[in-house]
Amino acid sequence: TELFQPERPNSKGFDLAHAPTLAAIDAARDPLRRTIWNAKPLLATDVSAGAVHNVTNPADPSDVVGTVQPATPDDVTAAFDAAQIWDATTSERAVILNKAADALEAQFAPLFVLLAREAGKTLPDCVAELREAVDFLRYYAAQAPFEAKPAGTYVCISPWNFPLAIFTGQVAAALAAGNAVLAKPAEQTPLIAHLAVTLMHEAGVPAHALQLLPGGGDIGAALTSDARVGGVAFTGSTATALKIRSNLAQHAAPGTPLIAETGGLNAMIVDSTALPEQAVTAIIESAFQSVGQRCSALRCLYVQEDIAPAFITMLTGAMDALVLGAPWDLSTDVGPVIDETARQGIADHIATARAEGRLLHALPTPQTGTYIAPTLISVNGIEDMTREIFGPVLHIATFKSGHMHRILQDINATGYGLTFGLHTRIDDRVQFVSDRILAGNVYVNRNQIGAIVGSQPFGGTGLSGTGPKAGGPDYLLRFSASGEAHALD
Ligand code: GLU
Repeated sequence: TELFQPERPNSKGFDLAHAPTLAAIDAARDPLRRTIWNAKPLLATDVSAGAVHNVTNPADPSDVVGTVQPATPDDVTAAFDAAQIWDATTSERAVILNKAADALEAQFAPLFVLLAREAGKTLPDCVAELREAVDFLRYYAAQAPFEAKPAGTYVCISPWNFPLAIFTGQVAAALAAGNAVLAKPAEQTPLIAHLAVTLMHEAGVPAHALQLLPGGGDIGAALTSDARVGGVAFTGSTATALKIRSNLAQHAAPGTPLIAETGGLNAMIVDSTALPEQAVTAIIESAFQSVGQRCSALRCLYVQEDIAPAFITMLTGAMDALVLGAPWDLSTDVGPVIDETARQGIADHIATARAEGRLLHALPTPQTGTYIAPTLISVNGIEDMTREIFGPVLHIATFKSGHMHRILQDINATGYGLTFGLHTRIDDRVQFVSDRILAGNVYVNRNQIGAIVGSQPFGGTGLSGTGPKAGGPDYLLRFSASGEAHALD
């Protein structure tokens, strides 16, 4: 209540429909089009000499965005040695996190350039991502004054699909609660993380309270296998979350918290009373925005049989209107997927569907860059899907009137439970479905991506995550030793 609903506005972001705003963004980012960034471990102690390699643009392999020197296992040990909880009053911490939020907003140009060139993000995705990062900082800063004792050294391991927002959200929560943070960004996106940490340090976060360890799975494993780990916040695959859980069980103190936000096999049901235009728009956004590289993205669409033929015609028409292109170009709707490994995995899945005669619709794919065109594949139901395909691939099934209950059982039986969408004009059905579906975030008559910090806490159940939800009132509690809230100063 009063304690946990701090009064704070969300970040305004940028209005991309306003021509002067667009022109200002373009003028600010254009000079940085060929800038080279360099990332290395940011430790409160000496960094060991390590190999350096290039970071390239997924849309254009000839564009070298920068270099990265990944952390070594020695750096992990040194970072634990140097880590110290943030020795400041809770309100001092809040002031500094708010300063960091202001700094991120002020530095929108390099952040947008890095989000585009390192992570392949379109401009609307860049704007949304910066807003979310800023919102996380301000939201957790506003809650900081009510937090209890820090848990100790918190390890934050974040994904490449929200290299700024999720990275910043985990770190901000752990810092707001006063922990020492060791942050490992995704291997694919170290440059954005390096800039974000630099801005947080400049805002006043002490070097020993926030250290950056770029690297891959070996560094993640070393960080989560050190006996000194006080807690872990992780967003990524379910398989990696299980590995982390086992590392903690072997090496960490009993009861060490793990907050894991993992994958999903997210469904949407469109019944015959739905508004087709509204549903098609919501589907296009949910399945193809951010190239389907959101854990919240729609993977399996159920359309009621009676409306299916006309509905699928509308849907494939809307797919045809999507523009694939360079993330930098304002006309682009769909950019590249993150890297060649991702592209190959998705392409294999599509090839199998094609061989099985289940490919319903696909757009042409550009020849350079790691692109996958939006694709529609038919399935009998979600039970045909054995894994999360993290890209712009939508699976579609039809269902007969009277089968709603069965479908809900099939969706729940996947074991995942992240997002779910429903399009209907029957009020009772909204209740019926919401009462039965196992999903962290349920969206009715709208898209099912883009949860807003503070008003739509985000997170799943079952194989999709441990909770508590990010951007919600309970999240910060898991970053403090008692797990409970106390006013300190
Ligand atoms: N919070 C994001 C959303 O609501 C998804 C986060 C993720 O993909 O990990 O779309």
